[in-house]
Amino acid sequence: MPPSSSRAQDETLIVVAHPDDETLGCAHELIRHSALCHILHTTDGGPFESRFWRQAGAATREEYAARRKAELYAAMRVFGLSGAQLEMLPVADREAPRNLPRLIAEITARLRALQPAIVYTHPFEGGHPDHDATAFAVQHACASLDAEGLPMPERREFTGYHARNGEFHAGDFLWEANAIVETPLEPGEQARKLAALDCYHSQQRVIARFALSPQRWRIAPVYDFAHRPHAGPLYCEIREMGYRFEDFAALAAAAR
Ligand SMILES: [Zn+2]
Repeated sequence: MPPSSSRAQDETLIVVAHPDDETLGCAHELIRHSALCHILHTTDGGPFESRFWRQAGAATREEYAARRKAELYAAMRVFGLSGAQLEMLPVADREAPRNLPRLIAEITARLRALQPAIVYTHPFEGGHPDHDATAFAVQHACASLDAEGLPMPERREFTGYHARNGEFHAGDFLWEANAIVETPLEPGEQARKLAALDCYHSQQRVIARFALSPQRWRIAPVYDFAHRPHAGPLYCEIREMGYRFEDFAALAAAAR
């Protein structure tokens, strides 16, 4: 049975790695329940590798990260979110796996303070190391609340991207787990999502690879982060994003 979507006054925490992930994954929430949404970004979107920010015409990593933050604020204004609903950890893009204990602690603190009914995050699919790190940290933050006897939010995940036959594949989950909820966006909602995505000037090439509608999400399964999410090379390995799965698994094991 699909999970219930009836919730009038439930605070929602969206924990994502990069500016634009929140709109790609959670536009349905940001459009329909904007007043209830809080967003925590686990990185500032600025990688250490200079080619990313040089391509965008930025002189430093910090300048590029500041630009991405400004894009995020502009995009969230499209949905009516204020700066008070946004927070970003000072972790560089692609560095989330090297900051897992910090991510767990920061997310746990936000969950304690906000007590959201729902938390959304990425699935664990080897698409991007920061996405996998964020999924790991959210699962462990929820578990630590549970261990303290505190109420756990419903942990949801939205579709992202992963490798399929060695190629980029977006819009579906990698493997079957809990029932998938498909939320088509109405034409007016699609226009708002597009207006928000248009604010991400630095990310247009990536954004063009995602469909505007529907949004797909499900209750997140309990992942075993010690095992490769699928056989064969992961998308983050194919694209050489700085981690083989074994690197990620070692960092995850140390964080546990
Ligand atoms: Zn991302």
